[in-house]
Amino acid sequence: MFDPKPYIRTVPDWPEAGVQFRDITTLFSNNQAFRQLIDAFVQRYINTEIDCVIGLDARGFILGAPIAYELNKAFIPVRKKGKLPFETIEEAYNLEYGQAEIQIHSDALKPGDKVLVIDDLIATGGTLNASCKLVKRLGAEVVECAAIVDLPDLGGSQSLKDQGFDVFSLCSYS
Ligand code: 5GP
Repeated sequence: MFDPKPYIRTVPDWPEAGVQFRDITTLFSNNQAFRQLIDAFVQRYINTEIDCVIGLDARGFILGAPIAYELNKAFIPVRKKGKLPFETIEEAYNLEYGQAEIQIHSDALKPGDKVLVIDDLIATGGTLNASCKLVKRLGAEVVECAAIVDLPDLGGSQSLKDQGFDVFSLCSYS
């Protein structure tokens, strides 16, 4: 399977002291690596029954849109509060550093829809967990939570698994 690690840049002390930020812009800016990255997710889900791909604001959009396109499925954004123009539902959650609220259009999913939820990285799991709650509140089903990177020491992927969600990542940093 494609290993994205050689293309990910680690930026120490950003956005605050003590944080090792895993910068994936260097992965996206390498055309061959970016293609292999998208293909790795497409191959994983090509034979899975899904109705749509949800990408999380904002780096999840960069991943989710080409994956949805290749799978010939719908793409649906989960956005930070205040960005979606129509009727929304929202969830508040804690970030690795800070707090946030995310929203989805209330007509974006139908009950019973099978959904793949994609973001770039799992830290505490707060963002993916809140997104999965939005999916469930609309009566849809999370097929899997997927990311490029997992930071298992922060416990996010384990807490998602503990809640019954399947979780997939291409690499991890401990
Ligand atoms: P969590 O909600 O799991 O604590 O944090 C994950 C969210 O924060 C993701 O949306 C991700 O984009 C962002 N994030 C947190 N830490 C990093 C990091 O080191 N690198 C990148 N690329 N994103 C991060």
